[in-house]
Order: sequence, then C-alpha cells, then structure tokens
Amino acid sequence: MENAFTPPCPYYKKCGGCQLQALPYAEQLRKKTGLCISLLGKFGHVEPIWGMDEPTRYRNKVHAAFALDNRRKVVCGIYQPGSHAIVPAEDCMIEDAAADAVIRTIRAMLPAYKIKVFDERSGTGWLRHVLVRRGFATGELLVVLVAVSPIFPTQKPFVKELTEKHPEIKSVVLNLNDRFGPVVLGTREKLLYGPGTIEDVLCGHRFRISPRSFYQVNPVQTEKLYRCAVDFAGLTGKETVLDAYCGIGTIGITASEKARQVIGVELNRDAVRDAIVNAKLNGLKNCWFTAGDAGEYMEQTAHSGLRPDVVFLDPPRAGSDERFLRSLLKCAPARVVYVSCDPKTLARDLETLTQGGYRVEKIQPVDMFPWTEHVESVVKLTRAGL
Ligand code: SAH
Repeated sequence: MENAFTPPCPYYKKCGGCQLQALPYAEQLRKKTGLCISLLGKFGHVEPIWGMDEPTRYRNKVHAAFALDNRRKVVCGIYQPGSHAIVPAEDCMIEDAAADAVIRTIRAMLPAYKIKVFDERSGTGWLRHVLVRRGFATGELLVVLVAVSPIFPTQKPFVKELTEKHPEIKSVVLNLNDRFGPVVLGTREKLLYGPGTIEDVLCGHRFRISPRSFYQVNPVQTEKLYRCAVDFAGLTGKETVLDAYCGIGTIGITASEKARQVIGVELNRDAVRDAIVNAKLNGLKNCWFTAGDAGEYMEQTAHSGLRPDVVFLDPPRAGSDERFLRSLLKCAPARVVYVSCDPKTLARDLETLTQGGYRVEKIQPVDMFPWTEHVESVVKLTRAGL
C-alpha cells in the first residue's frame, strides 16, 4: 500500500537520526505503545504513551561534527549512521533553533579566525565538534568547542564576536579530545568564557548543568516524566529515598519536598558536583549526593542494614546490573520507580525484580524522542504482599 505521508525532513534518508520520519506523529506514538506492550505487557497493563503537542524543536542539546569533505570544504552536521561521512544538516527540525543558529555562526566565523577543522585522514587541523546546550526555561546557552589541542591563538576575539552575536551565550568551554573513536567529549576542559555552566528550571527547581553532566534532552517531556515518577513513588514526607543513577540530581530534588531525605548516587563526578550545587541552589537541606557505581553503593547499603523506603533508578540504555538489582532485592524498599530509556533492558531487569518479589503496578511510556525510535518508560513496582 502506498504511504501518502511525506517525511518532513529533507535529510532523513541520509541522516538516520530520526528512524520514524516516514510515519505521521500519531502513528509513531501507536508504534511505541505497541512496542512497550509487546516487551512489557506480560508484567502489567501498559498505558498509551504520552506524546508531545508540538513534536518539533524539542532537543535542548545539539551536537555538530566538523570535518573536510572530499573537496576540502568545511562541512558540519550529523554523522551518517555507521560511517564518518557528515550529513550537512545545519537546521534540524528536532533541534533547538537558537542552538542550531550558534553552530551556523561558528562555521561562518572559522576562516576569519584562521580556525582549521580537524581532518581525520591527515591528522591535521584543530576543531572536531561543537556542542551547544540550551536551558529551555532560562534561554542560557552553553557552547563547547571540542578540539585536539588547548592552543587557540584567536580565542579572545573569536569568543568576543561569538558572544556579541549570541548574547544568550553564558559559557564557552574548550574540551580537549585528541583520541580516535566515537566519544565526543574528552576529559580535559579549559574555560574560555563565563562560569563554564548554564542553569535551567524544571518542575519549579533550578539546576546547574556542566558540559559533561547528563541532562535530559527534551525539557517539555522531562517535566511530565519526572511528575509521573514522583507520583509513582507515593511519597508522604516520611520516606528515605534513593535516587540511583541520579545525574545532576533532578529526580531526587523534584521528589525531595515530599520526602524526609533523598540520597543520590551517580558515577560521573561532574554531575555529582552539579547535584550538590543544585540542592544548595534550591535551598534544600534534605538531599545528599555521592559519587560512585550505583551497584556498589546499593551493595553497601544492603550490608549496612539501611533501608530506603523508595528507590528511583534511571540507568543508561544498558539498564541496571545484577549487583544493583540483587542488592535492591535485599534492601527491599516498599516501592521502586524504574525510569528507563530502553524497553528491552527494562524487560530484562523487570524479570529479575518480579522474580525477586516485586509486582509491577503501573507502566507509563513517555515520548521523549519524537521522530526517533527511542522509547522512555516509567514503571511503578511494589513489594508483593504489602
Ligand atoms: N536521572 C538523571 C540521569 C539519568 S541518565 C536524569 O534524569 O537526568 C543515567 C545516568 O547514570 C548518567 O548520569 C550516568 O552518568 C549515570 N551512570 C552510568 N553508569 C552508572 C553506574 N554504574 N553507577 C551510577 N551512575 C551511573
């Protein structure tokens, strides 16, 4: 049967970033709910996914790779899937327009400031990527230039012109990455302008965000996601809450007003520093954050005999691990709220938790990534017999 729908993006065939471009939005939502039912339906009833009213320009984080094409012309955009060819998509329908505009300005400024783009074939040149993040509520922009060396002779006038052209820029950071491979950001940074961070507001709380900290990319849907997670936690003000894989502390801080205390654990030290600042920024005295592996922390918690009443876990796509889940079962919190960005690993982990005595009460998918195939879900589990 012929599909009458025209994919809205001219780059979609080459880019591969939006796998569901060929489907109208309502259809994408049906497909995602269907996927959740097929993977998670055996654990409990799956609610229809919460979609966006306006599913465009939602990404607050934009990444552009810079390279030379075959004619040695500077191109910037998105890597074609499975290759290092760049699709020169300078205006993307799912990315924040102000962030895209900064990237276009930077590309246009390169010749005047004698900035050479890094060429993987010859190993010469300097600039590899530009990352722009925008605080949706504050409008603040964070620009990260990823380059192979800290030597940047035209730094001062370049930053001056860039920040004059885009006064919403609050920070410019130079990140050093001289390694081959898929990782965009290196571990060393040099501050070029501003405090090196931006702030945003989510669910009524203020959050500081550093360049290498995780922050949800779709702020409109994140508010719905967090409110759902906090609702599923059923807090009364008396609970000790563990926020595992907490990033900059967003879920725990959102839940903190309804809890006695919140403890967050997170592997990325920059994110933990942000989380501690964020508790202060919001005047919260009942939130603590610690750096480390969530599984190791959970194991220690189980040994110590400390019993969180509620555990939030929001692991990366790979899901949680045996160590975390086994220790979670030992701690036996009354409620577990699992926020997942991959229903496959979620299904695997729910298997462990349900076999360990938990019952799935609610499953709410939330569309955090319209036009792409990615699916986020929130699951409420309670200890069977409670
Ligand atoms: N809850 C946060 C972050 C979710 S993303 C939010 O909503 O913004 C997942 C987070 O898990 C990332 O910040 C990542 O750095 C962290 N992480 C990955 N592996 C981890 C591990 N083994 N232990 C603790 N945190 C981990």
